[in-house]
Amino acid sequence: MENKKEMRQWLTNFGLEHPLVIAGPCSAETEEQVLKIAHELKDTDVTVYRAGIWKPRTRPGMFEGVGAIGLGWLKKVKEQTGLLTATEVANKDHVKLALENEVDILWIGARSTVSPFIIQEIADALQGTDKIVLIKNPVNPDLALWLGGVERLYSADIKNLGLIHRGFSTYEKTKYRNIPEWQIAIEVKNRFPDLPMICDPSHIAGRRDLIFDLSQAALDLNFDGLMIETHWDPDNAWSDAAQQVTPKRLVEIMKDLKVRNKTTDEEAYQHTLNTLRAQIDVLDQTLLDTLGKRMNIALEIGQLKKSNNVAVLQNKRWNEILGKMILEGEDRKLSEEFILRVFKAIHQESINKQEKILNT
Ligand code: PEP
Ligand code: MN
Repeated sequence: MENKKEMRQWLTNFGLEHPLVIAGPCSAETEEQVLKIAHELKDTDVTVYRAGIWKPRTRPGMFEGVGAIGLGWLKKVKEQTGLLTATEVANKDHVKLALENEVDILWIGARSTVSPFIIQEIADALQGTDKIVLIKNPVNPDLALWLGGVERLYSADIKNLGLIHRGFSTYEKTKYRNIPEWQIAIEVKNRFPDLPMICDPSHIAGRRDLIFDLSQAALDLNFDGLMIETHWDPDNAWSDAAQQVTPKRLVEIMKDLKVRNKTTDEEAYQHTLNTLRAQIDVLDQTLLDTLGKRMNIALEIGQLKKSNNVAVLQNKRWNEILGKMILEGEDRKLSEEFILRVFKAIHQESINKQEKILNT
């Protein structure tokens, strides 16, 4: 599959002057709730109304969605507000019902993208559709699975495609529910610059106070849109309560976000520069995180050396590391001089830390 300009035609057709905004509750709960939120989102920047009808839950016993009855509520949303509608489909029965009930945009959830069987079933059920289909990244940080999902749909002659970046699950405790791993989204964007990429800060954050910053980061990285879970009474939502915002808050977020336009040459230059700088910021953050983790392990080794009464400097081991890094650096077109300088600095910091341990 190759990048094609036509990939963004559906988005261009919306004729928006700002990023695409998809908003609505995590789950459709009642007809009243669905319509109330939709009416509050009418006449805002929101173009597409989202609501999960069938909810994939990691553990049984949680709210699993209202099912097909909710499709009628989405139809009413469209009639009463003019918003387009979107819901998640996870098998061929969902697809059939969603198509019969004229849902405008279908998305494939993170728990489905992990399974090529499910993706293929959905692709077969959708064969040749002109509906817009958005594919969320898989739960685990696996670029190939995500691209595989796109390729299966594309091969089924589904051409109005887009991606949703919703972060990746991790065993580590972090402030996010799903860590962003922006570099994965950036890599996909570099390969398919015309495939629209939408950020779902709600599922990355897991809590509403992080949504603004994540949305701004996504726009700085040149994402095409945002999907933000919005509920009239977030705290009492039947699913994902902590991460939903009110329609009023959503409007504020949209007003405060800085959208970078591209028109003149000068602006195009600034725009590209900002995008590249945002990418550098992401990588620098990753470098820092990695250095921090490396130092923590060095500290543990320090403790181990102390309890075994071993010297801090282990020359043989250190020379092995350096030799290996110089070779690996060559593969990445990094000069020997540079590798030596970087690793000597890292090594020195580890030694300082370990010596502190041994001498306390
Ligand atoms: C959702 O959008 O409500 C959802 C279940 O998302 P994800 O597939 O990203 O977990
Ligand atoms: Mn949700």
